[in-house]
Amino acid sequence: MLSKLQYTRYKGCPKHLWLYRNKKEVLTPPDEAVQKKLDRGYDIGLLAQKQFPGGVAVQNGWKNPQAAAAQTRELMARGVPAIYEAAFLYHDIFVLVDILQKTPGGWNIIEVKSSGKNINPIYLDDVSIQNYVVAKNGVSVEHCYLMHINTDYFQTTDETDWTQFFLRTQLDSELTPFAEIEQQLAEIKKLLAGPEPEGVLDKNGCAGCEAHDYCWREIPEGSVFEIFRSRQARELMAQGMPRVQDVPPGSCQTDKLNHWVEVYRTRQPYIDRAALARWLSRLKYPLYYLDFETCQPVIPLWRFSRPYQQIPFQFSLHIQREPGGAYEHREYLFEGKQDPRFGCVEALLRYIGPAGTLLAHHAIFEKSRLTEMAHDLPLPPNQSQALLAMSERFVDTKIPFQQDYLHPAMCGSASIKKVLPALVPELTYEGMPIANGGDAMNAFDQLYFGQLSEAEQARLRSDLRRYCEQDTWAMVQLVEKLRASI
Ligand code: SF4
Repeated sequence: MLSKLQYTRYKGCPKHLWLYRNKKEVLTPPDEAVQKKLDRGYDIGLLAQKQFPGGVAVQNGWKNPQAAAAQTRELMARGVPAIYEAAFLYHDIFVLVDILQKTPGGWNIIEVKSSGKNINPIYLDDVSIQNYVVAKNGVSVEHCYLMHINTDYFQTTDETDWTQFFLRTQLDSELTPFAEIEQQLAEIKKLLAGPEPEGVLDKNGCAGCEAHDYCWREIPEGSVFEIFRSRQARELMAQGMPRVQDVPPGSCQTDKLNHWVEVYRTRQPYIDRAALARWLSRLKYPLYYLDFETCQPVIPLWRFSRPYQQIPFQFSLHIQREPGGAYEHREYLFEGKQDPRFGCVEALLRYIGPAGTLLAHHAIFEKSRLTEMAHDLPLPPNQSQALLAMSERFVDTKIPFQQDYLHPAMCGSASIKKVLPALVPELTYEGMPIANGGDAMNAFDQLYFGQLSEAEQARLRSDLRRYCEQDTWAMVQLVEKLRASI
């Protein structure tokens, strides 16, 4: 039996479906982040159902498709206003419709997604196969909708307005024609009966795929995927150059790629001292090294925020007031259930003076949080203006590592988690209970929603502080390394 999930797997990557059906043992189960996403989807699905009162849920569709399809037919005959998880079978294709809504002239298909405004093309495939199977059951489908989350919805009261929270986007004109679907179904049959197909390796497309480890198992360390775009990397592999060091020197289209090739070949860093000196000359004292940790509630937890908005709940700040001066450390960490941004703003304004450079790695993130707080929160005008002025004073510590300081151990990446072990190996995140932004978000969830003992709370808060402080201290160390290198 082919489910709609299997159909969308095929549409995303035929090999993914083949592996799922013929070699399931090579797939890795969802990790914590993926599982969290799945759970979130389930919760949003239940919330969406509440927007269609009087509906009836079909139970256990997956366990017994025939019985679920029969129950769906019976509910439709009764004329219930909505059916949740409505089940339909057509030949060997089985789909569950999140919400089947009765209309005066037929039924609407409503697919619920916990994602924001952008419509992933895979959602169109998802709804297209539902539309096909439902229509082939003789049901008059009036419209097909995607019900997703309006990330522009700005909540100004304590209660969420669900009519604003959910977006309903009609997809009718974008669905795959039935003839095309039938052709694809025939291709799927052929694919599944044949040998294991080749996959198209793509850094973005394969990221998060449950077959990632299997498909990428033969990609060597130092592979061309580390510095080239996927299409170019595939071409180089096909030409017998799987590793960056196999690429002839000076043969790339950009200086940056040629420098990287040299770094991989010689295992020596590439350092453009003049460019680094220019970058360092932009730093004006006092220097403020700033890093935010954020939570990202799907359903706004506080007024003046949007679904999925990144809300700062913590920051770490290292300050150096003059060249060669000692580093001072300041920090903020939320407490209780109130909106953490107000305490955060108050602490920022207390610690960061009106002059000097702010530094952050991938500074657009910190800048955006400052401008959002300035625009979104009901602050006195002088405070909003101070935050906006602060946001204009950033220099990004990532920039030098994008083309002026390239180290073989950075593996082609300028992210701090790659740059730090390359330049300051003694400062490691390994073994830290909170070692990345995802861990910090989980810690926030536990502190905010969990039933933790005082000791557990104290431990988590201390782990959060240690992690965030390390992020800004890492930037300090990187800038010191840059200074030493010119
Ligand atoms: S890892 Fe990539 S090639 Fe392999 S199945 Fe997944 S998407 Fe396809």
